[in-house]
Amino acid sequence: MDEQLPGLVMCVCTGKCPGFSKMDIWDFINRARVELPVEYGMIHPQLCEEDGDRFLADLLKSKRPLVVAACAPNMQRKMFRDSFAAEGMDMKKDMIPLDIRDMTTDEAINLVAKALEEETEEENV
Ligand code: SF4
Repeated sequence: MDEQLPGLVMCVCTGKCPGFSKMDIWDFINRARVELPVEYGMIHPQLCEEDGDRFLADLLKSKRPLVVAACAPNMQRKMFRDSFAAEGMDMKKDMIPLDIRDMTTDEAINLVAKALEEETEEENV
């Protein structure tokens, strides 16, 4: 990931998934976008659906790295691989996929904060 701040996209699995029932999704995204070193924070309802692909295709035209706070990282890598490849982006450095399911708001914020810190440390090695 280069020096520009990443965007943060939270995907909430339609908003009906029990995996997000322990957290307040609005507190999460509002805290994340204000407290963490991200360029912006937003919620998408279902990134792995066809309109999610279209949304990612538009968003990634900026070439901005993305933190995706959603489901299992290995699933994310499979589902979003083509979108990143289409923009010539390297998923390994341009995406931080995080699984925030079954977490409280604080736990999810801490996970994103830690991942961003680790990314910054890696960049400074
Ligand atoms: S990307 Fe993950 S969290 Fe989002 S809708 Fe698909 S399976 Fe659910």
